[in-house]
Amino acid sequence: MRIPFWLVWAWFLVPRPPTFAPFGLWPTWLWPPPSPGMSEDRCVQPENRRYADPLDYMPGTGTGPPVILIGYWESDMEPGWPRVTDFVDELWDETERHVVASYLEQGFIPWVQAGPSWCRICGKANGTAERTDGVYIWPEGLAHYVREHGVRPPVGVIRHIISRAAMHPEQVDMDWWRTATLDS
Ligand SMILES: [Zn+2]
Repeated sequence: MRIPFWLVWAWFLVPRPPTFAPFGLWPTWLWPPPSPGMSEDRCVQPENRRYADPLDYMPGTGTGPPVILIGYWESDMEPGWPRVTDFVDELWDETERHVVASYLEQGFIPWVQAGPSWCRICGKANGTAERTDGVYIWPEGLAHYVREHGVRPPVGVIRHIISRAAMHPEQVDMDWWRTATLDS
């Protein structure tokens, strides 16, 4: 007996419960059973148990190690920072400069400033966000100074960046996660 064409499409169009895979091609009995403690539909409901130090949620009371700010430059409005022209290094190796600039373009953004910063050298609008790798924190526009104007961070910062940028799979600790539990 031939199955009518419309019946095939009707099968795909029938609404299904959320535990069905797309198009209903994956029957629910092929799914693994829910783990103990997991609800039948495998979706979690909001709860309120927290695991971090309550103080760490409060601005100004964080208990983590301090991060070092770099890349702020002196201007008429902001005296007291280093002068950017004192940090231009025209003899800096181009490859290292590109690695450092690329690194500075990445990083976690912890917060964003209200208005853009202006490049102290060419006047271009130069970003509003801060970026951090957990050790240093810098304005995202620092990458522009490095890439376009040959501004070089201090030697210690470069060595830190290169050691991070050259991270190799052999440096990854593969063991901790294998034995991790909810309470690790
Ligand atoms: Zn510029």
